[in-house]
Order: sequence, then C-alpha cells, then structure tokens
Amino acid sequence: MAGEPQDDCLFCKIVAGHIPATIVRETDTTVAFRDINPQAPTHVLVIPKVHYENAAALAAAAPQAAADVLAATQAVADEEKLESYRVVFNTGSGVGQTVFHAHAHVLGGRGMQWPPG
Ligand code: IMP
Repeated sequence: MAGEPQDDCLFCKIVAGHIPATIVRETDTTVAFRDINPQAPTHVLVIPKVHYENAAALAAAAPQAAADVLAATQAVADEEKLESYRVVFNTGSGVGQTVFHAHAHVLGGRGMQWPPG
C-alpha cells in the first residue's frame, strides 16, 4: 500500500534499522544520514519514514511529510554549519535517481557549478 514500508527498499531498511547508516538527525517523520558515496564534504540524505518513490509522489500523497523533509534539510544545514548548500531531489532514472524512496540530498562544504551537470 502507498506509504507503507517496502521489503525491497534500501531506505525503508535504514528507517527500520535493518541496514546500518550514519544517522545525523531523526524526527518522528524523517531520518537524515550520511551518503555512503559523498559528493561533497557534507553530503547528507534526508528521507521521510513513509515510502513514496520520489518527492513528487510524497508531496502529493503526504504533504506534511514532504514539508517535514524540507524542514529537516534546513536543520541539517544548520547543524553542519553550512552557509551555502544545495538541496537536490533526483526524480527519475534519467537524472540519476537510483533509490526509489523519496530523498533530499543536502550538499555543501565546497563550491558548485550552475547549472548542474
Ligand atoms: P539518488 O541517485 O538520488 O537516488 O541517490 C541515492 C543515494 O543513496 C546515492 O547518493 C548513494 O550514494 C546513496 N546510498 C546508496 N546506498 C546507501 C547506503 O546504504 N547508505 C547511505 N547512502 C546510500
């Protein structure tokens, strides 16, 4: 059922504690943990505990959880003392989404180009 944990989802397993992760922040509705393959000095993933395949599906079905993810990205940036940072929601395999559980990348600690590659 939409929103329910999926047996084959890596991030649902992290939410459940079945796969280890370096968790930096947790709320009733979100978990934030360090990316296993960091692309910047700070690279944290913020995920909703509920399972939706991408940010758009999350926002449509569970807008409060989507808002909680956004608020958590700001909290992570504050805790990591990032003055400038980038929040990315890859949506679709065509732009590099590889894990189909909504997540925000919080990237900071180095300069970045715009537009992104
Ligand atoms: P996507 O490409 O936007 O779907 O991002 C998925 C991210 O999950 C990638 O940046 C991966 O490095 C990261 N990732 C994959 N497995 C793990 C893990 O077990 N722990 C933490 N991050 C992971």
